[in-house]
Amino acid sequence: MTHPLPYRAIPWPEDRRFAFTIFDDPDGQSLEVTQLVYSFLADLGFRTSLGVWPLGIRRETNSGGETCANPDYRIFLQQLQRKGFEIAFHNAAPHPCTREEVIESLELFRSYFGNPPRAMANHYNTDAIYWGSARVEGWRRAVYNLATGGRKHKLCFGHVEGHPSFWGDVCRDRIRYCRNFVYADINTLRMCPWMPYSDPHRPYVRDWYSGSEGAQADAFLRTLQQQHQDRLEAEGGACIMYTHFGHGFVENGQLKPEFRRTMERLAAKRGWFVPVSALLDFLVKAKGHTAIDDDIRRQLETRWLLEKLFRGTS
Ligand SMILES: [Zn+2]
Repeated sequence: MTHPLPYRAIPWPEDRRFAFTIFDDPDGQSLEVTQLVYSFLADLGFRTSLGVWPLGIRRETNSGGETCANPDYRIFLQQLQRKGFEIAFHNAAPHPCTREEVIESLELFRSYFGNPPRAMANHYNTDAIYWGSARVEGWRRAVYNLATGGRKHKLCFGHVEGHPSFWGDVCRDRIRYCRNFVYADINTLRMCPWMPYSDPHRPYVRDWYSGSEGAQADAFLRTLQQQHQDRLEAEGGACIMYTHFGHGFVENGQLKPEFRRTMERLAAKRGWFVPVSALLDFLVKAKGHTAIDDDIRRQLETRWLLEKLFRGTS
């Protein structure tokens, strides 16, 4: 079957056959898990992106996981950054924040890591940006709201001028890339050949990227199963895994053996293993930048919504 999207293989640098990276959201991730997972990935030659919460906890949280208020966590992140991993943004904290707090968190981020984050992925806070039902438009928003029961945590205001959590202008000034749609296919670029792309309907994000499903260990391993890895390589594609390494990758203080085997197999291939921002920067150079139109937006949203409804993707 031919694919309806204008996908074409990219000539990757250094004669690499495909590109692979990960954006890891910090939900539920202890320092111990961060150390186990990232020491392993670093030894295999992967250089990926970790979303962090720069701000310490100030009120009731909506998620577990370390924040940068823990100096030991921060030191480990700085070591990873020196090795070539990308430290990225997962909103200010694991709880709703005001505009002032988001700005404070970005200043903290800069003081810890030397520059503002280049990439982000939304956490389900009120300060998330174009999140929840704002990810889709028209009939798709109505279907999304029905399917999710209009849950309160799906409401977000980071892009809503005048709201106490509005910080869209700051996002646009300081952050380059933001994740939106996640698809089941391992080849993220095949699902979203336009990435990174801007969306005239969502001007407070400079450029969007997509991800491949891997919210927790089982989904991650399903997406990265052997035949999928081989197809990613054969297609010369690019995979940006969406995951939470805090969700099921470590059991009894040990990495899950299947996770080890999966990543070792992938590392043995001639892949280009760079962080999310480096990969997206390269894509802009290789194929130019796209501002999506109504037709492309409809394709991206419809596919995402159908997969979410019928395959349970994120
Ligand atoms: Zn999150």
